[in-house]
Amino acid sequence: MRKKIIAANWKMNKDINETSEFISAFQKEMQGSDCPAEVVICPPFTALHVAAKNLQGSDFKLGAQNLHFEDNGAFTGEISARMLKSLEVVYVIVGHSERRQFFAETDEIVAKKVKKALISDLKVILCVGESLSERDGGVTEKVLERQVKAPLGGLTAQDMANLVIAYEPIWAIGTGRNATPQQAEEAHAFIRSVVAEMFDRDVAASLTIQYGGSVKPDNAAQLLSQPDVDGALVGGASLKADSFAKIVRSCPFGKTA
Ligand code: PEP
Repeated sequence: MRKKIIAANWKMNKDINETSEFISAFQKEMQGSDCPAEVVICPPFTALHVAAKNLQGSDFKLGAQNLHFEDNGAFTGEISARMLKSLEVVYVIVGHSERRQFFAETDEIVAKKVKKALISDLKVILCVGESLSERDGGVTEKVLERQVKAPLGGLTAQDMANLVIAYEPIWAIGTGRNATPQQAEEAHAFIRSVVAEMFDRDVAASLTIQYGGSVKPDNAAQLLSQPDVDGALVGGASLKADSFAKIVRSCPFGKTA
């Protein structure tokens, strides 16, 4: 059975007080929930320490939103894998479309970050996804194939056990316009086929592929019930404890997995 993962990507939101408040409210909301998905919370770097303290003893995992591929040195403003490990970070998001779009992260940079995270014993949530013009231009599969193949080239099957792919169509991120369950399923099945071609069917079959893009409490269950959709990466709707908890609680995995 594939691991199911629902992750909160807070982006540049929440200070340390808001982080503590969220975690205690979310823990209350989640009492008695039987969703078998792993829950990952990815605050900004500045709130990782307080989040780690607040999450101690819970089943929820801590994630970061980015890392640098070097270990240390003259890289003003950057954060290394080792720094994240010292904060009890388990997951790191790599290649989010906002990083690619606003911070010029290329496939090559994304590949270096993925490798650094994996050798540093961090689990990776690798984001891929096409823009609206790429979808309208009929090149979605070409884009996904490139974004998957660049960072996965040279990885081992063992590395793949510590990597999750998040399919996040750019046109659905923060727009309120989610992919239809069918569009998500098609893209996920395609990504899985690329991974099968690069590795083998077992690696592809065990790969967790999350959907991200305007996931909300009222559309989560339908998206998550698709056979190749193994979780969600949630932005806006993860900022409120009750709405993120509703998404996690609505997961249909217990019934289908
Ligand atoms: C994201 O930023 O990863 C995301 C999916 O955002 P939203 O849920 O707000 O579309």
